[in-house]
Amino acid sequence: MSKLLSDLIEALRCLPGVGNKSAQRMAFHLLERERERGLRLAATLEQAMRRIGRCTQCRNFSEDPLCALCASTSRDRQVLCIVESPTDLAAIEQATGYRGQYFVLMGRLSPLDGLGPEELGLPQLTQRLGEGEIEEMIIATNPTVEGEATAHYLAQLARAGGVRPTRLAHGVPLGGELEYVDRGTLAHAFGSRQLLD
Ligand SMILES: [Zn+2]
Repeated sequence: MSKLLSDLIEALRCLPGVGNKSAQRMAFHLLERERERGLRLAATLEQAMRRIGRCTQCRNFSEDPLCALCASTSRDRQVLCIVESPTDLAAIEQATGYRGQYFVLMGRLSPLDGLGPEELGLPQLTQRLGEGEIEEMIIATNPTVEGEATAHYLAQLARAGGVRPTRLAHGVPLGGELEYVDRGTLAHAFGSRQLLD
């Protein structure tokens, strides 16, 4: 096999769930019938990898220092919804009529994986709570063991900052992940969130 071809196969293996066999299939597919779109993929991938960073306010992916959602003047700045990932943010945006802002942890508290408050941007969150604009913190971490522990920690931060912490109502199955919950269930859990005490 050509050196370049094996390099391509090896490179494709960085994608989640892609082993050697699938990587080979992808490489052959691109070479056989998708040259043009393959080139577009390469160019877009390069641009995205170089230019997409993190929003300085909510930590979501963004090519600008402030993402479109944080920069929007039509979002309610008194409600902040905390999610684990950009996928969870997208699920809430699609399923609910939420009009507040977000904070994306990019993970959950997990000491064994080296994810502590610092890694999740919690000092930044604490600072934002201290600015006094936010009244309610909707904690939308997943109902997994680590997600619940994270929610508990976040609720303490909220109270310390004089902010009301709320949690999505049950209905999101225990141990489930928001991104796999159907829209109706998520919208209901979001709408009937409860004050954490
Ligand atoms: Zn943002």
